[in-house]
Amino acid sequence: MSRELVLKLKTDKNLKDEELLTLLKTDEVDQFLRQEADLVRRKIYGNKVYIRGLIEISNYCKNNCLYCGIRGENFGVTRYRLTKEEILSACEMGYALGFRTFVMQGGEDPYFTDDIICDIVKEIRKRFADCAITLSLGEKTKEAYEMFFKAGANRYLLRHEAADFNLYSKLHPKKMSLESRKKCLFDLKEIGYQVGSGFMVGAPFQTLENIICDLRFLQALNPDMIGIGPYISHSQTPFKEYKNGETKLTLRLISILRLMFPHSLIPATTALGTNSENGREQGIMAGANVVMPNLSPENVRSLYEIYENKLTVGAESAQELDKLKKCMKDIGYEVVVDIGNVKR
Ligand code: SAM
Repeated sequence: MSRELVLKLKTDKNLKDEELLTLLKTDEVDQFLRQEADLVRRKIYGNKVYIRGLIEISNYCKNNCLYCGIRGENFGVTRYRLTKEEILSACEMGYALGFRTFVMQGGEDPYFTDDIICDIVKEIRKRFADCAITLSLGEKTKEAYEMFFKAGANRYLLRHEAADFNLYSKLHPKKMSLESRKKCLFDLKEIGYQVGSGFMVGAPFQTLENIICDLRFLQALNPDMIGIGPYISHSQTPFKEYKNGETKLTLRLISILRLMFPHSLIPATTALGTNSENGREQGIMAGANVVMPNLSPENVRSLYEIYENKLTVGAESAQELDKLKKCMKDIGYEVVVDIGNVKR
């Protein structure tokens, strides 16, 4: 029965809520689900794995998401922000290594005004004309997103985090709202960005019904990139008592996402790699086609601690790209030097 559901999902790219619930609950069909997701990915993207150089520009944040280790009210964090020169030299190093996408990610740091971000984006665009510039800097005004786009940014990652209103309000302080998050995502699409969204798997209070709500939201948004990873606890947050999300459910969801959104770019996230050994490889085998190694200066990597024990070494480090290439080759995939645009 569940095999039939997998095949139905593959052809229709959709299932009824109760059918999705069955798939999310069923262990027995995982192998078949992964196999089908892999076939779909190979048909569109072959065995190629796209790499993105992740530059974590600041761990200052004005927000207080209850799950996040760099929330403003965590006074135990040593804060840092990169200079324009440090960001540019990270890009330079990344370019030499073969990266053709740079992702500037950070907390919502008021120091990085819209003008400062534009100035940095313009310089990256000037120096690395054949690269994609991805921003992941949180919620901004539509005007700001427009300015960044004109300056040369082409992609934006902003997870919706939770599409269910009640769950969103349990994970975030009152100041933050799901409406505002959603508006940002639709603004970004309208401007012309390739947009990425997503959510944590196994976040405190999250139910399987909430996950179905996330999938429905993603269908409405139809993003180019979908990032999911297990929730991982951090001892200096209000959620320190809650357990980590499951790798197994995350992998199952990656496969479901691949069948629902065949063309999407789906990363095997650092959280997946941190949560279990070979998590990154398993993510690729389940249907993911992107990996985002860390290109931040080595002295700040451990400070961008959104959850504890976050991997920054080995195949997660841009400098050790050969390790990642080997890991991928060993499971039948190939890391490529490519801008890695979505294939629609
Ligand atoms: N400030 C930007 C934003 O809001 O999109 C980007 C930085 S934010 C730290 C990046 C992502 O980290 C979030 O979208 C969230 O899903 C993820 N994250 C934060 N805390 C986490 C945790 N404890 N476990 C897993 N992922 C987490």
